[in-house]
Amino acid sequence: MSDNNATGLRDFIDWVQQRNPHEPEFNQAVRELASDIYPMYTEHQGWRAAKVLERLSEADRIITFRVCWEDDHGEVQVNRGWRVQHCGAIGPYKGGVRFHRTVTVSVLKFLAFEQTFKNALTGLPIGGGKGGSDFDPSGRSEREIMRFCQAFMDELYRHIGENTDVPAGDINVGRREIGYLFGHYRRLVNTFSGALTGKDIEFGGSHVRMEATGYGLIYFLRCMLAQREQELDGLSIAISGAGNVALHAAQKATHLGAKVVTLSSSQGTLFSKQGIPCEAIDRAIEQSGSTTDVLKTIQSDCGGDWLKDEKPWGQRCDVALPCATQNEIDADDAQALADSHCQIVAEGANMPCTEDATRLFKENKILHAPGKASNAGGVALSGLEMAQNASFSRWDQEQLNDKLLEIMQDIHAQCIQHAGDEDSYKDYHRGANIAAFQRVANAVMAQGVG
Ligand code: GLU
Repeated sequence: MSDNNATGLRDFIDWVQQRNPHEPEFNQAVRELASDIYPMYTEHQGWRAAKVLERLSEADRIITFRVCWEDDHGEVQVNRGWRVQHCGAIGPYKGGVRFHRTVTVSVLKFLAFEQTFKNALTGLPIGGGKGGSDFDPSGRSEREIMRFCQAFMDELYRHIGENTDVPAGDINVGRREIGYLFGHYRRLVNTFSGALTGKDIEFGGSHVRMEATGYGLIYFLRCMLAQREQELDGLSIAISGAGNVALHAAQKATHLGAKVVTLSSSQGTLFSKQGIPCEAIDRAIEQSGSTTDVLKTIQSDCGGDWLKDEKPWGQRCDVALPCATQNEIDADDAQALADSHCQIVAEGANMPCTEDATRLFKENKILHAPGKASNAGGVALSGLEMAQNASFSRWDQEQLNDKLLEIMQDIHAQCIQHAGDEDSYKDYHRGANIAAFQRVANAVMAQGVG
C-alpha cells in the first residue's frame, strides 16, 4: 500500500474509532474490511466523492428498546432489545436475531455490518441487518422463552415486514424461537407474510434452511480444496461449537468422508481421535437442548475425551472450522493451529478470529476464509425462503440443495477473482471484501446521496 493510502486508511480508522468509542467489535469489523478495500477505494473517484465508505460505516438506523416480561415466579424481568438496520441499498434489511448475555450494541453493529457484505456476496436482493437481546435463555423454561419472544416482538413488529426488514435466527434463536416470534408478529399485524425466515416447514419455512449454514460451509471448503487439487475425504477437521452450524457442518463433512475430531461448548471440548461417527452427529441434530447436553449425549454414544475448559485448537487437524462465536481464535490458538500444520481455516461463525490470529494465518500461508463468504449459506437459503413465500410456492429439497451449492461455488469464484496471488497464496479475506464492497458501493452510489 502506498504511503498516501496508508495515511488515508489510518485517518479513516481513527475517525470511525472516535465516532464509535467503546465498541471494539464494530471497530474491528470496519477495520478489517477497510484495510482490504482501501487501495481500490481511493482509485475510484466516484466512490470517494460520494463518501461511500464513510456512509457504509454508519448504520441506516438503530432501534433500541426495552423488553419487559414476567418469569415463572411472577417476577418482572427487564432486558434490552435492538435492531440494527445497517444497509438497505440492495434489498430489505436481512439478518438474524441473537439472544445472548454477551449481546451489546457493538456486537450487533459489527454483525449487521458484516451481514451487509455477506448478503451482497450471495447475489440475492437482500440488504444487511441484525438484532438481538442481552436475554440469556439458559435455564429458562419453555414458557419463559415464549413470553420473552412475544415481549421482544411487541416492539420489533413495528420495524419489520417482508419488504422492509426480515429477521431470522442466530445464536440461541432457532426454529422454536422463530415460531414464537412469527406467531406473535402474525397476530399483531393480522397478516400472514414472510416477514421472518427460518420458519417451520408447515408455516412457510423452507427445506434445507436448518442445514444451510453448515452444509454451505462444507461446500465452500470443498471449493477451497479443489482449488489446490485436494479432496475432503480422509482429512481431519476440528470444529468448535455444537449448535446448528457446527452440527450440520460436522454431519456433511463426515458424510463426505472427513474425520471430525472435535466439537465444543464454552465449558470444554469433546475430542475423538478416530473421529465422531455420523450416526452420533445425526442423533445429536435430532436432540434439542444446550450445547453441553448435546456433547454429553454424543460422548455417551461414541466415547471420546472431554477436555474441560479447553478449546479445540490444540488438537492436530488439517482443517479448522470455528463455528461458535466472535473472536474465539486468538493469536495463541492460531499459533497452535500453525504448529500442528493445519492448512485451512474456514469460518462458520461471524468474525471468529482476532486480527492477530488472521495475521498469523496469512504469515503461515494457511488459507483463511472469512465468515462473510464461507458461512453465507444460511442467509442465502433465507433469501430463497423469501422467494418461495413471495411467489406462494415451495421448492423441493434437491432443488434447494443444488441452489445452495451453486451459490457457495459462485461466492468462492468471486473470492478467487479478487484474492490476488502473492506467492501463489489466495487471500480470501481480500477477495471477499473487494467483491462484496464493489456490489454494495455501486448500489449506494447509484441511489444518490441519502
Ligand atoms: N444469522 C445468520 C447469519 O449470520 C442467518 C441470517 C438470516 O438467515 O437472515 O448469516
